[in-house]
Amino acid sequence: MLAGQKALVTGANSGIGRAVAINLARAGADVIVNYVAGDDAAKEVVQAIEAEGRKSLAILADVANELQVAEMFKQAVAAFGTLDILVANAGLQRDSGFVDMSLAQWNTVLNVNLTGQFLCIREAVREFLRRPIRQEVSVARGKIICMSSVHEVIPWGGHVNYATSKGGINMMMKSLAQELAPHRIRVNSIGPGAIRTPINTEAWSTPEAYASLMELVPYKRIGEPDDIGHVAVFLASDMADYINGTTIFVDGGMTCYPGFATGG
Ligand code: NAD
Repeated sequence: MLAGQKALVTGANSGIGRAVAINLARAGADVIVNYVAGDDAAKEVVQAIEAEGRKSLAILADVANELQVAEMFKQAVAAFGTLDILVANAGLQRDSGFVDMSLAQWNTVLNVNLTGQFLCIREAVREFLRRPIRQEVSVARGKIICMSSVHEVIPWGGHVNYATSKGGINMMMKSLAQELAPHRIRVNSIGPGAIRTPINTEAWSTPEAYASLMELVPYKRIGEPDDIGHVAVFLASDMADYINGTTIFVDGGMTCYPGFATGG
């Protein structure tokens, strides 16, 4: 579905980003693996992509650092010629009750989760606009996928910085979709629910935690990183060419307010 396309995935040496990168490669794309720490994990993802017969390169860059992001895109274009797909996935949590939340906790989350996506999307769009539409690989000039969360719509006490960053991604994504559509650039988000990754180990790693988590998931299983990888492939492909400015929730029904299942 993505033969000949060139992708960059941020935060691709762990969890969801890793699965997205490998699934894009399985679908035919060459993939840049961005990471900020963990050389060995990044190397392992590069090797998994190469095992699919695709090209890959790991690039160390902090998505919240303007100069490092610009340098990463320069290196990516030098290696692959151009880019067709950006998955802005890198993200983190710095949890705290609101009154005790430090400015550093607030700023770190907003800088990585929201400003990091802004910086990467801006470089990707500049590259998409630099060259003609690559008709040989896609009818679109370029595709942006923002990794959001169910918390772009579900409020999350104790995590106000994180929920705010994801709410911001929602409006950034929609405004960008509107602005860039005339250039045939599609911008969409994926809103994962509870996915089994290192970001939320305490929510699924004991039977008690898992049972409590399942109260929030009508489909009664945790999501796996590949659940997100599959949707990323679809959204990046021409199968999804008329999808623009939308969040696809991949959450087993978490956004269906399961607390109201029996009448509320
Ligand atoms: P993870 O901790 O396994 O992966 C996060 C990745 O982001 C890591 O590779 C990390 O190194 C990278 N990263 C962090 N700061 C960075 C920076 N400054 N520059 C570059 N990379 C950086 O967690 P995950 O669950 O795979 O999270 C991936 C995305 O999915 C995040 O945006 C997260 O908010 C979102 N998400 C996850 C879940 C879930 O249940 N796991 C649910 C909703 C949304």
